[in-house]
Amino acid sequence: MAEVSIEKLTKSYDGTTKVLDGVDLHINQGELVFMLGPSGCGKSTLLRILAGLVNADSGTISFDGKNIMSLPPEKRRAAMVFQNYALWPHLTVFENVAFGLRMEKHSKNEIRTRVMESLEQVRMERFAQGAVTRLSGGQQQRVALARALAVDPALLLLDEPLSNLDANLRDTMRREIKRICTERKLTALYVTHDRREALSMADRAGVMHKGKISQIGTPDEIYNHPADGFTARFLGDVNRLKDGGIRPERIKISESGGKLRATLLERAFFGDSCEWLFEVPGTGKVLVRELAAPQRELGKEYFLDYEPEFLIPVPESGDEE
Ligand code: ADP
Repeated sequence: MAEVSIEKLTKSYDGTTKVLDGVDLHINQGELVFMLGPSGCGKSTLLRILAGLVNADSGTISFDGKNIMSLPPEKRRAAMVFQNYALWPHLTVFENVAFGLRMEKHSKNEIRTRVMESLEQVRMERFAQGAVTRLSGGQQQRVALARALAVDPALLLLDEPLSNLDANLRDTMRREIKRICTERKLTALYVTHDRREALSMADRAGVMHKGKISQIGTPDEIYNHPADGFTARFLGDVNRLKDGGIRPERIKISESGGKLRATLLERAFFGDSCEWLFEVPGTGKVLVRELAAPQRELGKEYFLDYEPEFLIPVPESGDEE
């Protein structure tokens, strides 16, 4: 596993729009770093450049201090897991996982050992001789992950690997990928537009906006102390108050007193939480999220309170695209 350094990476496909506009990123050895951002912000482009599938216009990438920009994909040891699995339909599970190792001309025994170890790691060893086309989406993604692990990559790249899976399976795979990354001490870069995935799995996560990384930090840092309005909104709901923004779960509702007077408009019960929508005169709608769902009267006036330390930057209008 390598330590990865990316400096001043730029890329434009059409010569005008900079998809990447000076991206700097350092990934420590054994670290799972996430890059979050809306569709089209350049996440896949960043991974493809790291894998050597797309050329950057300028900038440098080094693995363990060695510049790898001029190396072809197969010499970089950056293995990629794609959203659509990208398995070979005519090969068995075993042969799919063995593919990269055969290209590297390892001995038969070595290949067998590494393929079976990788399949065990993703709990797919009993399917080794089966056809990949018979597998469910989740199983196919496990095989794709095993294929990436088998080559003992310097850097593991994951491009929205859970997006094609249904919600329950996504939760299981989220834990599995995290477990494998920890067990194997993988240096990994994972891109997604799903903040829950990033916040729950990342050692550190960055948010991409307009070709740059607007902020990078631990999930707690970027969620609770976002550097700017875009980052704040991308990671969760934010209420705009006169003195700043506040997350819905930081507001307390009471009947006796608080900073704001508010009329209760709507209640939405989600089982594990409850959301209340208030109208605050002069401020507008304010959303509050609670774990409990007590009886409250719609149309009645309540008080909302919060600790000023939880105020965060809010986007200027027009800053959210
Ligand atoms: P993301 O992964 O965040 O959705 P991408 O890196 O796929 O973003 O795309 C970033 C931008 O670059 C988008 O506007 C996309 O249309 C454009 N783009 C991506 N790949 C190509 C390509 N091969 N040729 C031209 N434009 C591309």
